[in-house]
Amino acid sequence: MTAVPATTSAPPAPPFRTVLVANRGEIACRVIRTLRRLGIRSVAVFSDADSGAPHVRLADVAVRLGPAEPQASYLDVDAVLRAAKATGTDAVHPGYGFLSESPALARACAAAGIAFVGPPVHALEVMGDKIGAKAHVARSGVPVVPGTAEPGLSDDALVARAADVGYPLLVKPSAGGGGKGMTVVRTPDELPAALAAARRVAASAFGDDALLLERYLAAPRHIGVQVLADAHGAVVHLGERECSLQRRHQKVVEESPSPVVDARTRARLGEAACAVARSVGYVGAGTVELLAEAAAPEDFFFIEMNTRLQVEHPVTELVTGLDLVELQLRVAAGEPLGLTQDDVRLTGHAVEARVYAEDPARAFLPTAGQVLVLDEPAGDGVRVDSGLSVGSEVGSTYDAMLSKVAAWGPDRATALARLDAALASTTVLGVTTNVPFLRRLVAHPEVRAGRLDTGLIERHLDQLAAPAHVPDAALVAALRATADRAAPAARAASAGSAWGPDGWRLGEHLPTLHVVTSADGERTEVAVLGPAHDAQVRLDDAPPVRARLTPVDGTTAQLTVESVVRTVRVASDGATTWVGHDGSAVALRVMGRLDALAAARARDDRPAGAADPVVRSPMPGTVVAVDVATGDHVTAGQPLLTVEAMKMEHRLTATTDGVVTLQARPADRVALDQVLATITPHGTDRTGQDTTAPAEEGTRP
Ligand code: ADP
Repeated sequence: MTAVPATTSAPPAPPFRTVLVANRGEIACRVIRTLRRLGIRSVAVFSDADSGAPHVRLADVAVRLGPAEPQASYLDVDAVLRAAKATGTDAVHPGYGFLSESPALARACAAAGIAFVGPPVHALEVMGDKIGAKAHVARSGVPVVPGTAEPGLSDDALVARAADVGYPLLVKPSAGGGGKGMTVVRTPDELPAALAAARRVAASAFGDDALLLERYLAAPRHIGVQVLADAHGAVVHLGERECSLQRRHQKVVEESPSPVVDARTRARLGEAACAVARSVGYVGAGTVELLAEAAAPEDFFFIEMNTRLQVEHPVTELVTGLDLVELQLRVAAGEPLGLTQDDVRLTGHAVEARVYAEDPARAFLPTAGQVLVLDEPAGDGVRVDSGLSVGSEVGSTYDAMLSKVAAWGPDRATALARLDAALASTTVLGVTTNVPFLRRLVAHPEVRAGRLDTGLIERHLDQLAAPAHVPDAALVAALRATADRAAPAARAASAGSAWGPDGWRLGEHLPTLHVVTSADGERTEVAVLGPAHDAQVRLDDAPPVRARLTPVDGTTAQLTVESVVRTVRVASDGATTWVGHDGSAVALRVMGRLDALAAARARDDRPAGAADPVVRSPMPGTVVAVDVATGDHVTAGQPLLTVEAMKMEHRLTATTDGVVTLQARPADRVALDQVLATITPHGTDRTGQDTTAPAEEGTRP
């Protein structure tokens, strides 16, 4: 929909001829879609990891930037400019993240006579630094969260100022974003280590290790106000987005309007946000971010301004009917907004859920894998912004957000119900995602009631983050293995299909015993008597049931248990079988009786109650710090090493007292579940222990 009310039947002319999108993933696809609609030629850029990615396929033309590492591709201003010049680009849209708030890119565009789809350099510079932004905004009379306001404070100076700020306090990278490097500090003795870790993350994530301290508000609400400004002095706001549902200080579910903001508060917040935008001569789309304490929801404090399109902009588009990317482009071309505050109407309610490649049951650590099966929802009021396709490799090089599922409804309850239904018809097999967690979150009574704050997820973590459950997944995996065993040759012949002609030929009268294990170590014994298309099946000690697995296509099957039929998605990558149903997906490993016995024996050899002496990487990433050396005596809980992925650090500690043997070095790239260290408990014969388990023999199915 165009933002400019149509006065004639002729559509407005496109603001540019060719626009380069300096980004990847879902946001690059989303920007390209608007370019398409406006008749603008689109240029994608890509790294070597993304040569076959959806944004590359969607664009009219695509230019390689460089190797996979962001520094050598999506963050390389010169490479982006070369691509722009080589393709006759008139404007560069930076999306979010990467170079979206980079004064260097804005300057380079200006020098090359190319429009930068973003605010003037001055606004980028003032708002790009939280310390400077807060000082600036405070001068225009908008309240800010109390904390340090001076730039360039050393660790000693910050320690000295901490008592004034008061505990608990928050250590924040001044150049920060995405919650990276932020650490809550509850007592003075925790501060030095928190400062060191935050500086390390800030330097590597933002190239700037400046830090500030802020009073830590207890479980606040987080509200973002969308503003739009043109180069002719017009500034409007498009209402607020409630962004309080967060994990790791990063948003997970957002909605517009906020369930707690009434029309009066909205007008007040909007005016404050427009004042912030005016104070830096803002042009384009931006978001003013505010926090309010739960006890005083009307009193909002400024925390920062995001000088770009935000991840959660779709909820605003769904309730205003505006296309923010089109408006960004028109304003960047010098057109007037053509929109007054009175023209902005919020209709109904919209909620968005971010689909991340992460495992909520493992502290939301990033996951990795190749997408084997993908179902994305559609339907009334449902919007999907995705950068995924079957075959996409998800790894630790780029952000873990894969896609966004949003739903609009005439009221909040309808929007939430539609979102839940949309998530239930989302399937991603091959990489663990947070979809089951999102479904539990949007169904949570406090979320339904609109009682939101940034601590909600943490408070209800046990309930929300339990491992995904797919009813009868073990049955599906075992029946599938039965079918595979029965006809390996025929299966190989029908290449491309995961199914072969079914049949039970060997040992017709003996049940096959499959032991199915899931990622959380749950084991199910499944005895299958008969072929997969008509079997008697016994799960553990339960009475036998009649079950049937009927292939529908290469990755879909119908599971019939007695008279109940369920459609499931199934795919295999090597030894792992993925089973998906109702928005949940589980990865299972099917073993024969002998392998299962060997695995059980290895486990039983460990003394009863003893901790696992093997320390594994909880996520794919890079070893950034090693605190001990091979041969050191360590005690349970002592820090051993730190793994980082996507600028998130995870510290691994000793599982038991003993002598440590390191199996990783600083700067090593490590896989999920790779063995990083082994501890030989005191009193055992070191040489008698198997400390050489190869990395690929992880426990992950
Ligand atoms: P980033 O730019 O890294 O996203 P923000 O400053 O926007 O960091 O903060 C991200 C989130 O961290 C907020 O939404 C909130 O949950 C939490 N947060 C930030 N500042 C505070 C604070 N002073 N007190 C409590 N929580 C805070």
